[in-house]
Amino acid sequence: MQRKQPHHEFTSHNIMAAILQNLPSEAELTKIEYEGPRIALYSKNPGYLLRNAQVVSNMVNSIKKRIVIRIDESLRRPEDEVMDLFEKTISKEIGLANIFFDSALGEALIFTNRPYLVSKAEDDLVSIDLAQKTGWKVEIRRTPHMISTIEDINRILRDTVTQRVRFYKEVGEKIFRVKLDEKVEASLITLGGFDEVGRSSILLSTHESKILLDCGINTSSNDSTKSFPRFDITGFDLNELDAIVLSHAHLDHTGFLPALFKFGFTGPVYCSEPTLPLMYLLQKEYLKNMGTALYSLRDIEQAVVHSIPLSFGIVTDISPDVKLMLSNSGHILGSALIHLHIGNGDHNLLYTGDLKFGTTYSLENASWNFPRVETIIIESTYGEKEDIFPRREESNECLINTINDTISGGGKVLLPVPSIGLAQELMLIIDMHMKAGKIDKTKMLIEKIILEASSIYEVFPEYLSREMNHRLLNPEDSPFSGEQFNFVESAKLDNGQAIILSPSSMLIGGPSVGYLKQISDDPRNKLILTSYQATGTPGRYILEGGRQISVCGQTITINCQVDKVEGFSNHSDYNQLVAYINRLKSKLRRILVNHGERPSVQNLASSLNRMFKIPTQHPMIQEATKLM
Ligand SMILES: [Zn+2]
Ligand SMILES: [Zn+2]
Repeated sequence: MQRKQPHHEFTSHNIMAAILQNLPSEAELTKIEYEGPRIALYSKNPGYLLRNAQVVSNMVNSIKKRIVIRIDESLRRPEDEVMDLFEKTISKEIGLANIFFDSALGEALIFTNRPYLVSKAEDDLVSIDLAQKTGWKVEIRRTPHMISTIEDINRILRDTVTQRVRFYKEVGEKIFRVKLDEKVEASLITLGGFDEVGRSSILLSTHESKILLDCGINTSSNDSTKSFPRFDITGFDLNELDAIVLSHAHLDHTGFLPALFKFGFTGPVYCSEPTLPLMYLLQKEYLKNMGTALYSLRDIEQAVVHSIPLSFGIVTDISPDVKLMLSNSGHILGSALIHLHIGNGDHNLLYTGDLKFGTTYSLENASWNFPRVETIIIESTYGEKEDIFPRREESNECLINTINDTISGGGKVLLPVPSIGLAQELMLIIDMHMKAGKIDKTKMLIEKIILEASSIYEVFPEYLSREMNHRLLNPEDSPFSGEQFNFVESAKLDNGQAIILSPSSMLIGGPSVGYLKQISDDPRNKLILTSYQATGTPGRYILEGGRQISVCGQTITINCQVDKVEGFSNHSDYNQLVAYINRLKSKLRRILVNHGERPSVQNLASSLNRMFKIPTQHPMIQEATKLM
């Protein structure tokens, strides 16, 4: 085939030439290599490039590709020598806890007990100095309460160095290949999570590439035609897929991903930095609780190996004609809005994933300031007109009162929550009010997976709200170390009062079912539902008045009290969804509504269309939409 070469674009050949021309000789460049979506510059004088950030950013602006500075392998000191040096360099006061080496990238990740005794600027200087001395690019982070998930991921990365070096190169070669021609077209096929909540997945096909957005499961369904994305109907080959982009770690967005690796996918998975450890944690927990034959631990590990974590706000090429930028969606740690720029300014697509357009204790409001968005795919979990949350203060008041009522009567409170997101939010709220004397001092039993997830919150404070970030700067403080917190694993409850936080949130399995069984007989106890309860789940059945549920092969009769407190959701309510579209309305040409049950998608779609006069659709699964 005759391949046309567009004059305004850099080919891989002249990218390299431009870099060589623009770099001062002090950089002591030794090689230029693709590293996934980035171009890696290997240098024998890394300190020069790390100190002169302007040189690199000028180059990024001129070639419009991402660049990463790497240290020439010949400078790398052996790991044990580097460990010794770190122990000597990093003072006792700061306390060195763990070091992880990734020799595929030449990076060392250092966990210290008190990293912020030195300022961020000092941190950077320490890092540059260590890079010069050791030949490893160093990043310093705070040691979390539990480091096991980070350790696991590091072991997986360590065992796959050769595989990853090859993988990063291959990914780069595919992304930076010359385009077939200048034709632009793009369409979407809905595979899951439309007209329903669960198994979110969308296929974007352009003239040059195929990109999958999210790859979830519906954990509340046992029917395989309703649990997994409908890859069977598209007839496409996994090998045709250029990339998978994940909005956030929740299983309704990532739960099916390991299955794609089982079926032979070998391409890249893009997600935010915190999403990688969080999804690994959830997928492993899913495997443990459900004993699923859908995939094995090996497939979950392959998903880790093929993941390319990205920071928010940085534009990255992920195929010859698609650029990706992730930004905060306000829902859970690392949850992202996916912004895709297709072609050369031809079309911009924004997929919200799960959206919180409102502040919470743990996170900032979702980003909205995009220069261009022609098509938006917006979630509608709470898209019905009646879905208006009370104000935070009112919700706090309700929660305080209902907890105090039960505790003062000698009972226990069970709060079934998702282990990431609402769990952290409720821990913070209850701890805060207990410290202020508004909730009676009571032992809190928090299921261990929630601690593991909270530990990842501690590792990535820059993704949290300003207030949380600030608290985590203080080495003596962590919002996740309240004195009443007791971390347990499917505990046997004693006779005393307790506040229990445990997944799963909809009582479809997991330890919350075990706790419910233990508290359900005694009318002094209380089950408090605070999160979304999908149709067909035990949680929804109880919410609607049902008092006998069958779950995990057992029948539970509910004689304890049941209450629900709204307003803590990390999804947007109806008003917040409308407000979000209002912010973007002048740019939008098309709105697609997803991630909601039928009344929600229908109502949100018709309301938005009426209010903003923008064409609005709420497709079903297996429908195609032409973008251009
Ligand atoms: Zn979610
Ligand atoms: Zn979701």
